[in-house]
Parts: sequence; structure tokens; C-alpha cells
Amino acid sequence: MTQPKESPNRALILGGGQGGSAILEMLQNEALVDIVGVADRNPDAPAILLAKENGIPTYHDIEGAIKNCAPCIAFNLTGNEMVEDVAAGILGVGGIIGGLEAKLILKMVNRLKDAKEKLLFEATHDPLTGAYNRRHILAAMNEGIAQSRRYGFPYSVVLIDLDHFKSVNDTHGHPAGDAVLKSVVNTLQSNIRDVDILGRWGGEEFLVLLPHTPEAQAIIAAKKWLANVAAGSVALPDDSHIFVSFSAGVAEFSPGDANTSVETEAENLIRIADKYLYQAKEAGRNCIAGGGTTNQQT
Ligand code: GH3
Ligand code: MG
Ligand code: MG
Repeated sequence: MTQPKESPNRALILGGGQGGSAILEMLQNEALVDIVGVADRNPDAPAILLAKENGIPTYHDIEGAIKNCAPCIAFNLTGNEMVEDVAAGILGVGGIIGGLEAKLILKMVNRLKDAKEKLLFEATHDPLTGAYNRRHILAAMNEGIAQSRRYGFPYSVVLIDLDHFKSVNDTHGHPAGDAVLKSVVNTLQSNIRDVDILGRWGGEEFLVLLPHTPEAQAIIAAKKWLANVAAGSVALPDDSHIFVSFSAGVAEFSPGDANTSVETEAENLIRIADKYLYQAKEAGRNCIAGGGTTNQQT
């Protein structure tokens, strides 16, 4: 059977509020229907704005919309039953989805949307700390390096490893170690800029991406984070408190051969940060290393 070029199922959305917007979001990529218009009196209603962004015609009045669009189905998401009477008068009662039917569809659409958002969150975040996971941070670093290479702005990374973390687990138990990881992430999260991206690299290692930042500034930033992490004690599940510190290696991206892949550039950048992290550990921990200098935290 051959597929028709254009879907014959022309659908119109009446009501541009959150409901109309949720239905539009779900149906605009759905092959079974063509959304041929959105109608709302408010020119700034969310679904009207979304429709404009996507080149879908918008209408100010319901009757005009129905006559212009000649839909085979109209969703009434205005919450106003009179609209249904007007639409049914033109399209027939079978041409309008409203009342309980519209409410149920909307509920399903919203549930689907929530489930999608939850899945996306879980695919990109570390469940323990809420920081981005390794997969996401790697993708973000590839993107950052590609941008830095194209536009020539500086780009740095800070690789962080908690000091003597094994002894936290050994002395206070694994849940205490988990509490430390969460606390450090909270402190880092509230210290980094909005544009910086924090991810859990593995176990007790974290990676921070700093777009538009040369190495010297990244070192200053990392020292500030360390000072804040080291200054605050962490409350453990048994109500005791401990102090923790970290060591970090800082590296700035410098573009290599134009033929080198972004993935290889990212691996190289991490390798340099890891080399400096090792130096920071060798220098006694609780410090930041980068750019050939090891800066002891005082
Ligand atoms: P260094 O100062 O050299 O970094 O020493 P360290 O003890 O921090 O390093 P080491 O690599 O010896 O130990 C890391 C520990 O982190 C061992 C591992 O059990 C623990 N760890 C990794 N992931 C988790 C986690 O999710 N929760 C807890 N509680 N511990 C974890
Ligand atoms: Mg480690
Ligand atoms: Mg460690």
C-alpha cells in the first residue's frame, strides 16, 4: 500500500494554554495527523508561540480558525464547552474532541511527557549525587571542544579526586562515603558558574568543564572550590562530622591537527588533566596542579 504524501488527518488545536501546548508538542511530529492550526485569543499563549516557532498557522478566533483550516478533527482544550458547540456546528459532533475525552487525552500526554523527562534525566545524571554522569559529561566536552576549535575561545577542564576517600569508607562505612560524595557535589555545584558543567567521572572523581576559561582562571576557580570544600565539615549518617579535601588537575584545550577528531582531542585533554592530578597527589594532596605548576593550598 502506498503512503499518501500528506496526512489526510488535518487537526486543529483550540486553546493555546498548557493543555494545547502539551498536545501540540506531542502531535507535531506524529505522522498520523497534520496540525493545521492553533487558535487562542491570547497572542502570547504558550501553544500560539510554539506554533509560530514551528511555522504552524495561528488564529485569533475559533470560528475563523475552523473555517480556514477545514480540519477533520478539532481538539477543544479551552475548557469552554460553548466552543465545542460552535465547532460541532461546523464540523459535526464527530469532528470535535472535547470534554472528558480531551481531559483523558491530555492526562495521557502529560504522563508521557513526564516519563520522557524522567528517562532523559536518568540517562544523563548520576543517581547518587545528581551530577551529570560520565556519558553526558563526555558528550558535553566533545561539544565544548568543537565550539572552542571553531570559534577559538579558551576551554579548560578540572579533574577532581577526593583525598583518602577509601579511609572514609573504611572508618565510617559506605553510607558515610556516599554522604561525602553528595555533600562535595552540592558544594561544587553552588560554587561553579552557570555555564560550567559538573559531572561524576567515576567513583570519587569529578570533572568540571569550564567554557570560555583559560587555564590560569580555571586554576583560580578550582582553588576557590577546594577552599570551600575543605572549610565545611560533612555531616555523616551517624551525626558525626568530618572534613574532606580533594586534589585536582587542570588542563586547557589547545587545538592540534585539524584532522584530529574531537573525541581524540577530549581524550588528550583528560590525559593532561590526569597527569596534573597525579602531580597534585604527589605534592601532598589538598591542592591544585596545572600548567606545569603545582599550587599548594595553604
Ligand atoms: P587518594 O587520596 O590517593 O585519591 O586515595 P583514595 O583513598 O581517595 O583513593 P582510592 O582509589 O584508593 O579509593 C577510592 C575509593 O572510593 C574506593 C572505593 O570503594 C570508593 N568509592 C567509589 N565509588 C564509591 C561510591 O559510590 N560510594 C562510596 N561510599 N565509595 C565509593
Ligand atoms: Mg580516584
Ligand atoms: Mg581519591
